[in-house]
Amino acid sequence: MNLKKDVCVIGGGVMGLATAYYLLKSGKTVALLEKGEVGNGASSSCDDMILLQSKKPGIVLTLAMESLEMFKGLSDELGADIGFLTLGGMIIIEDEKQLKIMEDFVKKQVSYGLDVEIVGRDVLFKKQPHVARYMIASTYSPTDSQVNPMLLMRAFLRRGIDMGMDLFRYTPVEEISKSGDHWKVMGGNDVSVECDSIVIAAGAWSGQIGQLLGIDIPIRPIKGQIAITEQIAPIGETNCWTAAYIASKHDPSILPYKSEFDREIGLGFSFSRASEGNYLIGSTRENAGFDKTTNFKAISRILEQTRQYFPIMNKVNIIRTIAGFRPGTKDGSPIIGDIDGYPGLFIAAGHEGDGIALSPVTGKIVAEMVCGTGEHKRVEELNLRRFSNN
Ligand SMILES: Cc1cc2nc3c(=O)[nH]c(=O)nc-3n(C[C@H](O)[C@H](O)[C@H](O)COP(=O)(O)OP(=O)(O)OC[C@H]3O[C@@H](n4cnc5c(N)ncnc54)[C@H](O)[C@@H]3O)c2cc1C
Repeated sequence: MNLKKDVCVIGGGVMGLATAYYLLKSGKTVALLEKGEVGNGASSSCDDMILLQSKKPGIVLTLAMESLEMFKGLSDELGADIGFLTLGGMIIIEDEKQLKIMEDFVKKQVSYGLDVEIVGRDVLFKKQPHVARYMIASTYSPTDSQVNPMLLMRAFLRRGIDMGMDLFRYTPVEEISKSGDHWKVMGGNDVSVECDSIVIAAGAWSGQIGQLLGIDIPIRPIKGQIAITEQIAPIGETNCWTAAYIASKHDPSILPYKSEFDREIGLGFSFSRASEGNYLIGSTRENAGFDKTTNFKAISRILEQTRQYFPIMNKVNIIRTIAGFRPGTKDGSPIIGDIDGYPGLFIAAGHEGDGIALSPVTGKIVAEMVCGTGEHKRVEELNLRRFSNN
């Protein structure tokens, strides 16, 4: 089957679906090619947080704050429940060294306009009555929110289909060529799409799409493992993370891991109650290629620290474990924008552990770039070319 469309989006994760939706909203015709089922990648194997507190102070935090504002109206806009909730978030602090690190981090975040503060043990224990008593302080932000990634993807997909999007599942993109001003994207099952523009939104696999064109897109899979509990009543007022989680995400060298094994698996602690009442407990940051298995040793460490930080969790059953591939870049920031020397080629990938949170804002910005509308100087620092300058 050969189609003619304005834009071909490669990848049916949250980023591809969001970008397709905003393109359709701008009046473009769109085909989306996905190598497996929709949500085949990280977007269905992840936590559910719009966690502003974990965002790198700078453009990523600014975009996350804008994305949160978009999320507030997204259910109504898409006409579907996306499981959006605002419970706030706390990063629990075990000792003075962690406190110093978090004070510096919070100061920077506040300078970008984030509503976050350090609170003492009284506030911590009031909001988290089951947290370990040795904790010395915590951060608190009332704005941290969450969304159900599966509902979010389904909502973008349904609206996209309603607006005329052509979706091809089980259609891996295998070849891309250019003739004159037009691109031709060839996928499995004899599907080909002739188009003016292409958006690469293939998550951790985006480098493989780049290779089809001889373009180096430096995105690698960063494996994360999560344990999921049975449905239980809330055990605290907000969701929680540790200072070690923030360090493992941004700069592990500032906070030494507790053991060589923790370092090997990039252990952090995230603890969030999904909208259905199951707790999602994570996670690791592993350099393990595309091996998607969960393993007993890493999950055991995740659970050991859960019992250490929240002893009450000893009594709760784990019903499932999952692993996913965060699309990671060298500097931890996403790659958003056009690609030098390839007119009509765009990328929306590399969002590491922030892709759910950043999906609406990224989709909207990339759609505007494709349409040649809007003003995007502020996101130039996220362009792919930043890696060729190094
Ligand atoms: C353990 C864990 C916890 C996380 N927690 C959070 C969180 O709390 N909040 C948050 O915001 N983010 C979180 N993330 C990150 C988030 O999941 C990702 O950033 C986001 O899902 C990336 O979306 P994506 O669409 O770019 O990639 P993906 O969801 O991986 O989608 C890429 C798609 O491209 C497809 N594809 C690949 N190659 C081809 C090809 N050749 N042809 C066609 N299609 C192709 C894949 O099959 C896949 O469906 C977490 C991730 C993990 C692993």
